[in-house]
Amino acid sequence: MVGAGIGGVTAAVALQRCGWEVTVLERAAALGEVGAGISVWPGAAAVLNDLGAKGIDQAAALSGPTGLRKPSGRWVVAATHLGIDLPVMIHRAQLHDLITAEFGPAVTVRTGYTVETVTQDDSGVLVNGSLRADLLVAADGLRSVIRTALYPQYAGPQYSGYTAYRGLADVKANDGGETWGPAQRFGIAQLIDGRTYWYATANQPAGQGGDLAAVIRRYGNWHDPIPQLLASTDTALQNDIYDLPLPLVPFAAGRIALLGDAAHAMTPNMGRGACTAIEDAGALAKHLTATPDLVTALTQYDAERRPAATQLVKRSRQIGRMGQLENPVAIGARDTLMWVGGGVARGAAALRRKR
Ligand SMILES: Cc1cc2nc3c(=O)[nH]c(=O)nc-3n(C[C@H](O)[C@H](O)[C@H](O)COP(=O)(O)OP(=O)(O)OC[C@H]3O[C@@H](n4cnc5c(N)ncnc54)[C@H](O)[C@@H]3O)c2cc1C
Repeated sequence: MVGAGIGGVTAAVALQRCGWEVTVLERAAALGEVGAGISVWPGAAAVLNDLGAKGIDQAAALSGPTGLRKPSGRWVVAATHLGIDLPVMIHRAQLHDLITAEFGPAVTVRTGYTVETVTQDDSGVLVNGSLRADLLVAADGLRSVIRTALYPQYAGPQYSGYTAYRGLADVKANDGGETWGPAQRFGIAQLIDGRTYWYATANQPAGQGGDLAAVIRRYGNWHDPIPQLLASTDTALQNDIYDLPLPLVPFAAGRIALLGDAAHAMTPNMGRGACTAIEDAGALAKHLTATPDLVTALTQYDAERRPAATQLVKRSRQIGRMGQLENPVAIGARDTLMWVGGGVARGAAALRRKR
């Protein structure tokens, strides 16, 4: 296993459960995740529950309304009564910890180990010219060296045109959802530990940076509780947003499988990147268990996961483009469409409830 992000550690637990001896190679000096909140959608929560990871089943106590608002606070779409699934919101480090808590004696972790070269033949894979394995799972993220080695012609990460900020406020917000303004968005979600996770996006060139002061300048006069949340936040993380170009490369090459962002990094607009990595891990273990021939099992894994991930990359990118619109006329048309769509969805949900 190369990479001990959420994808790599989930795959390590999943492979351990079906009898593999797993070595996790991670270039960082220690295991763990930085970051703020993360959404865990039902499909990923089901995989984690199957793997025995405990603690994701307590759905966030969403006490107030959620949906889509304008910076003034006016609702465009109220989602609370649409009858749609909502994710569990959890701190990223807590999610990582509850997965690694399932590591047993079959999992060995080597931190401070950077994979630079990978070669393979019919009998196995060779890492950095010295470590041999039957199977290599590349969970080494957006800038995967293994994906680049396998597919040197593939263009690799492309910049979305916007950056994202994330932070944790030490207060409980009574509502959630997203607020869309011109070329910038702000999202609020309650974590299961009682704190409030917020995130925000803004159009800007890659590499420009940004901090909490920039967030306060941009969103500090938006509707309540945004100013209060920012006032209760110590620091903000900032990441330029990239995804991988379509078509995605195959997730299987001989005895090597790509997993998570290494295979399908997507913009975070649907909050699905890590969830898709978790689902990849479940699918990989399933095919390796069901199909004795390893190369065939990886081909089946690719056939199952690549189409699903492609759809998510595409839809996440489209949502980002809609959300980051700058032209007021286009924004007006978008908001009207969403308001009408929200009404139709609300009506359909009410009908479903009556049946
Ligand atoms: C702002 C933002 C918000 C997001 N919100 C959500 C959300 O709410 N829900 C959700 O599901 N997803 C979300 N995502 C996406 C999610 O963060 C990623 O999809 C997920 O973390 C990818 O996990 P991964 O394990 O595939 O890769 P990574 O987390 O990138 O892990 C890769 C690991 O590999 C290691 N590594 C890299 N190269 C090497 C090497 N050569 N040798 C050894 N080790 C190496 C790295 O150090 C790292 O630990 C968000 C992303 C962003 C940017």
